Amino acid sequence: MINVTKTFLPPFEKYTALLKRAWDKGWITNNGELVQGLEAALRSYLGVNHLWFCSNGTVVLQMALKALNISGEVITTPFSYVATTTALLWENCTPVFADIDQRTFCIDPAKIESAITPATTAILATHVYGYPCDIEAIEKIARKHNLKVIYDGAHAFGTMIDGRSVLSYGDISTCSFHATKLFHTVEGGCIIANDDQLSRQLFLYRSFGHLADDHFSMGINGKNSEIHAAMGLCNLEYLPDILASRKEQWLYYYEMLEDTGLQLLDLPNDPRLTYNYAYFPAVFPSTEEMMTTLEVLKKKEIFPRRYFYPALNTLPYIEQQHCPVAESIANRVVCLPLYFDLSRQEQKLIAETILQAQKQNI
Ligand SMILES: *Cc1c(COP(=O)(O)O)cnc(C)c1O
Repeated sequence: MINVTKTFLPPFEKYTALLKRAWDKGWITNNGELVQGLEAALRSYLGVNHLWFCSNGTVVLQMALKALNISGEVITTPFSYVATTTALLWENCTPVFADIDQRTFCIDPAKIESAITPATTAILATHVYGYPCDIEAIEKIARKHNLKVIYDGAHAFGTMIDGRSVLSYGDISTCSFHATKLFHTVEGGCIIANDDQLSRQLFLYRSFGHLADDHFSMGINGKNSEIHAAMGLCNLEYLPDILASRKEQWLYYYEMLEDTGLQLLDLPNDPRLTYNYAYFPAVFPSTEEMMTTLEVLKKKEIFPRRYFYPALNTLPYIEQQHCPVAESIANRVVCLPLYFDLSRQEQKLIAETILQAQKQNI
């Protein structure tokens, strides 16, 4: 069976050797040595001053909204994982969906501008499939209308612009280190803010708003453990290999599938951009063709994932707003299997099966 993803696991002995340090100290959570070590390593890799390792990629979105004191309407993308929208709802904000760019699948800055009202306070955008949003345009709009910017960078670990991590942009950027993501800590995530004061607030929020007996503000439990940090420290060692293998696999799929009726992620020839090759989306000409192809793949025990589906503006608990581009893409897109030890032979089988199904469709 080939699933859309398979979790990267470091050699067991490497992991247990790190765990032993926590065991010997008898310190397994509450900002321990491994958590601090992982944070230092991540700050250095991402080139950011402030970063906190947290329990997942959802609570960090909530912490971001709280720390920036966001309320009212937030302009966001209809094409992301459901957590992007539910974090807004959970924090009593109203999501206002701006449709996406047909080519990049990221929020369309022109649509942001036309969705702004006097109640708008922020923009929450996702770097979809690890491909960066139009950061310059979004920053310009935010400055003009005095809006805060939060990036859901759950997919964006490893993507660089001019050698600088895409996670270093916005008032706050977040990332997920869930086991399905390119770099993971089993469960986990991080939050990045450039402003010192804001970063301190986030640090306090992460552990209930207090330091020992000094209570500064309300907070939440967004901490993560030594057990999770150990996984992160192990996996970080393999990051160059993980990124290199993704790139190789990604380019192979592209070569196999570029001259078909499928729309693939069209990477620009931009020397400033280092893409992380986190996902390989394929958009079919129609939902029917996608469904037929999924059936054919299923017979060979190959399971791509409809990701993202559905468009978030169509969620049953959302007041309906129309986003034709996002709805159209969400109804026709799947992400193909892409993970560290996926073999060339397996990839070939997947690509050829899709090509055969495409022929049957015609
Ligand atoms: C995975 C993901 C999240 C949620 O992260 P968790 O760590 O699972 O809470 C949020 N947004 C996007 C875009 C994601 O892909």
